[in-house]
Amino acid sequence: MTPEEKKEYAREWYQKNREERREYARRYKKEHYDKYLESQRRYYENHREKVIAKSSAYHKAHREQNREACRRYRAKKKLEKLLAMKEEKLRREAGYFKPKKESPIVGGKTFRLDTCPVCGSREVGRIGNKSYFCRSCFREITQHKIYFYDKEGIRRLES
Ligand SMILES: [Zn+2]
Repeated sequence: MTPEEKKEYAREWYQKNREERREYARRYKKEHYDKYLESQRRYYENHREKVIAKSSAYHKAHREQNREACRRYRAKKKLEKLLAMKEEKLRREAGYFKPKKESPIVGGKTFRLDTCPVCGSREVGRIGNKSYFCRSCFREITQHKIYFYDKEGIRRLES
């Protein structure tokens, strides 16, 4: 067996038993965590220069890659945030403009009218705070009351 063949054989073996080996390593680490840390520390102390050189070389070699990855990550986060904001806005707007089926007058703090509750026309416009006027049936609609204008032009409460 040449060294290349040996290497190849070892790689194949590892590929075959990879999950098992990983599981074993994980279990070992969990069970002997102190020992593991100690061994890590010892290795670092003994091979300090080597470790630092290796890590710095890796960093230097992959600098552009790292930066690109960081940039992509930040862009992704930004996009996610924007999308969330957009969704939130849409949701709020949908809730805001949603006409109630049983009553066209929407109550609460944000009184809003899309259709006239008397004639069903969409030609309603806001004329004041929580007050709308229908152009089709000439009625003034507020949150709790509906008014109409008589012949003299006096505003009266709709009975
Ligand atoms: Zn109307």
